[in-house]
Amino acid sequence: MTERTGILLLVSGPSGSGKTTLCRRLADEKEAHYSISCTTRPAREGEVNGRDYHFLTKENFTARIEAGELLEHAEVHGNFYGTLKSEVLDHLTTGTDVVMDIDVQGATQVRGCADQGIQTALIDLFVMPPSEDELLARLTGRGTDAEDVIALRMKNALEEMSHWPKYSYRLLSATREEDYLNFKSLILAERLRVSRLK
Ligand code: 5GP
Repeated sequence: MTERTGILLLVSGPSGSGKTTLCRRLADEKEAHYSISCTTRPAREGEVNGRDYHFLTKENFTARIEAGELLEHAEVHGNFYGTLKSEVLDHLTTGTDVVMDIDVQGATQVRGCADQGIQTALIDLFVMPPSEDELLARLTGRGTDAEDVIALRMKNALEEMSHWPKYSYRLLSATREEDYLNFKSLILAERLRVSRLK
């Protein structure tokens, strides 16, 4: 028998904040299951279907909403993104921690979710880039997106950053290692929480 139910670590932050790297590393180190989202955006070079995202057509995405398979969904940068219940619920019940990388709209939906299991599991973190200049440098440096895409992401990032006070935790990004240390400390501490112990 497992000793506790899982943590649902919800992570938001603008593109370029480093949140995806943090979430992925936690999963690579087998500390948590990474919830693979569905999206209608085209795959970037190097992205693999079923590993980075479930890449779906708009029709298929809509069909999954109608079938009640999604925990939350939102339109971000002109594309649809959503979390499959199957990526989250059973893991939590069996005591596996789940990390999800979702935008501020999706976070609002998960926070408002009536499911008691989700509410017990949930902690939310906003990853903030160190400065606007550094954010622009990071968005440009990735080299995978066109200039107009970067400009749109920068504009959206500034809007997205205004939502950080809604989160329980905020991580102000510094170096990769410092960020990861803080990130992992959060989940280590949450594993001691009495309300999730069986
Ligand atoms: P990208 O296209 O750069 O991978 O992701 C764009 C944005 O979509 C990021 O802010 C990311 O957190 C968000 N996102 C990724 N998956 C989901 C999801 O399942 N639901 C929601 N609401 N947002 C997501």
